[in-house]
Amino acid sequence: MISPGQQIVVIGGGLAGLAAARQLQRAGMRVVVLERAAAVGGRARTEEVGGYRIELGAEFLASFYTRTLALIDEVGLTSALRPIPRSAATLRDGQLHALWPNMRAAFTQLVGMRQKLPLSYLVGSLLRHAQRLDLHAFQKAQELDDCSVSAYARAHLSEELLEYLLQPALAGIFYWTPERTSRALLLITLRAGLAHPAGLRIFTLREGLGQLARTLAAQLDVRTNTEVLAVVPQAQGGYLVQAQRDGQALSYAAAGVVVATTASVVPQLLPWLRAEQRAFFAAIHYSATVNLAVGTRRRLPNDLYGLLFPRRETPFLASATLQTVKEGRFAPRGRDLICLHMSGPASVALREYDDATLSRVMLSELRRLVPQYDPTPHAEFQRVYRCAEALPEFDVGTFRRMANFFRGGIEVPNLVFAGDYLGGPFVEGAITSGEQAAQRLL
Ligand SMILES: Cc1cc2nc3c(=O)[nH]c(=O)nc-3n(C[C@H](O)[C@H](O)[C@H](O)COP(=O)(O)OP(=O)(O)OC[C@H]3O[C@@H](n4cnc5c(N)ncnc54)[C@H](O)[C@@H]3O)c2cc1C
Repeated sequence: MISPGQQIVVIGGGLAGLAAARQLQRAGMRVVVLERAAAVGGRARTEEVGGYRIELGAEFLASFYTRTLALIDEVGLTSALRPIPRSAATLRDGQLHALWPNMRAAFTQLVGMRQKLPLSYLVGSLLRHAQRLDLHAFQKAQELDDCSVSAYARAHLSEELLEYLLQPALAGIFYWTPERTSRALLLITLRAGLAHPAGLRIFTLREGLGQLARTLAAQLDVRTNTEVLAVVPQAQGGYLVQAQRDGQALSYAAAGVVVATTASVVPQLLPWLRAEQRAFFAAIHYSATVNLAVGTRRRLPNDLYGLLFPRRETPFLASATLQTVKEGRFAPRGRDLICLHMSGPASVALREYDDATLSRVMLSELRRLVPQYDPTPHAEFQRVYRCAEALPEFDVGTFRRMANFFRGGIEVPNLVFAGDYLGGPFVEGAITSGEQAAQRLL
């Protein structure tokens, strides 16, 4: 049993780890967060370069992120929340078709009139399975984890809806393919987005989403540049957490541990896990992306926030986002910042190429597809960020494995796991997983 005043070590200063640490500290524990990188935030960090603010991972929050919005309120950041005023649009045959507000996609020419009818099947599924589609308890949807989004769409919707509505959204937001995404994940996210009473709206924070991690960390004991190497169970109970900082060995005795790294790191830190536990973590795969940020001396068109590119239009680009549409402070006055995201499959196929080649490929595709957004004539700065582990895939089988996890099949006494691979592939999932992990430990 963990009791107040005891030492807890949280490994990983991403949003899952910080959310867990906050809950544990509020419950009276002594908590230290160990983070390998020089700054907190993990995949929700904002980097500042020459007056530009670049999101290294997450870019927006959605109105259905109830836990995230509550946390933002609790830490006093509500006044920093900024609604993103423009829509995203999908490209088809040279035309951009806006997707929201108010389900605009259903009324545009993005897909033909006859193709829209099967959407009623999708709406029927959402209503029929509403009880199982819980954004904060994915395991409830395990009965719906029986086929991929592509198989589901081909059987019940249409090829056009698959290729121009579902695929671009999965690729542009998660860098996934519909072949490797469970229909359960699709139904959960659609229900969360469509059923929210205030409608689907998206937000940023004034200084970028990294502001949330920085604000959380300011109220905690966080040690950055501290890499955990191993967690060793102690005969008398508790754990010894072995770490290093600047080549110096450190160790922390802990009554309890929260492991809030990506899933791939877990088996290295805990080499004593049983085969069944190792298999759980080995089954989690991440999509990849490459983010190219280009700063321009002039403003770019500001009629849209996000551009989604179907794979039928380009194998290379998944999406692009116009940063000053979100908030003027993302670029110096009169300047602009556009971020291009490579598709998951292309990011894997081209990973051996150097940054200059990746940037050439992405910019020439953007110029071919939407020349009005080409930043090159006025570019003053560009940077390539590679993300080998972008989002955990939720492919067929994931929900059954999660149900086993939440039945208690994987964790060990006084050591719990947190991360978006358990809570859902977005900021809300990371925060929920951290808070739930803290509750399990307590
Ligand atoms: C390109 C991209 C775009 C995204 N866009 C959005 C979006 O618009 N909206 C949205 O809601 N979500 C988005 N996401 C998803 C969101 O960013 C993640 O779901 C969330 O940030 C994951 O948080 P986490 O704490 O689970 O993991 P992480 O943020 O990965 O945190 C894990 C932490 O553990 C640390 N760590 C690892 N190993 C060790 C070790 N041995 N010792 C100490 N520390 C260690 C890492 O450095 C890291 O800081 C995006 C992600 C990416 C990559």
